[in-house]
Amino acid sequence: MTPKTSESSKARLIEVFSAIQGEGLNVGTRQIFIRFALCDLRCYFCDSAHTWHTPATCSIEQTPGERDFETHSNPVTIPMLLDWINRQNQPGLHDSISLTGGEPLLHAPFLVEFLPQLRDLTKLPIYLETGGHRPEQLATILPYLDSVGMDIKLPSVSGESYWQTHAEFLQLCWDSQAEVFVKLIISSKTEPDELEQASELVASVSPGIPAFLQPVTPLEMPHSMAVLPPTPQQVLEWQVLMKRNLKQVRVVPQTHKMLGQL
Ligand code: SF4
Repeated sequence: MTPKTSESSKARLIEVFSAIQGEGLNVGTRQIFIRFALCDLRCYFCDSAHTWHTPATCSIEQTPGERDFETHSNPVTIPMLLDWINRQNQPGLHDSISLTGGEPLLHAPFLVEFLPQLRDLTKLPIYLETGGHRPEQLATILPYLDSVGMDIKLPSVSGESYWQTHAEFLQLCWDSQAEVFVKLIISSKTEPDELEQASELVASVSPGIPAFLQPVTPLEMPHSMAVLPPTPQQVLEWQVLMKRNLKQVRVVPQTHKMLGQL
């Protein structure tokens, strides 16, 4: 008899592919990316708005880095996804697997089942990229994660405000065995008060947690709506401001965009 597949055993995906990580602590490393559909936030600077809703199909790369995508229907089952990842997992090629989106934590019930099997199959470290606003869902999958890159959404840049939830989320990560860093998107309109508040939030958990300031990559949109990157002087001043509370404050733009990567 064919085993029943529950709804929690299926995921809605955008794509699976092999690429160079362009942000945060893992910048420059080679990862297998699993990009999940759906996001419950609406950041002004979002460069992944195509993930906000579930497409009928997802794109699955067949050979790592070759961009030879094949198309499959959503949702997908755990055996299908494991099979695609296994195909990507050539010996010695990848440093880790990135769970990205959208917001991967909207798929927490799926991940609870999927991640232990993924780890057994690939033996690769598992990295979660998240908006940092769903601590309840994080708690369910934290034992299976090796590292977490969480955003701190600054209200002046993202239009979102999650200070208390971010603090809870970061504390959970810090109390686990996973490595954690925070990422803050900065634009010409960033309020220095918010950066100060963010640095105090991180320092209240641990001043040693690395913080990445990521100047926004401008999107093509009408000039009146454009979110522009900060000036060189703003970046210099804001790094100083953050370093009053934190030991590691690095400024890194999205390097995959410079390299013409996905
Ligand atoms: S959390 Fe990420 S995917 Fe969601 S709206 Fe913000 S930038 Fe876009």
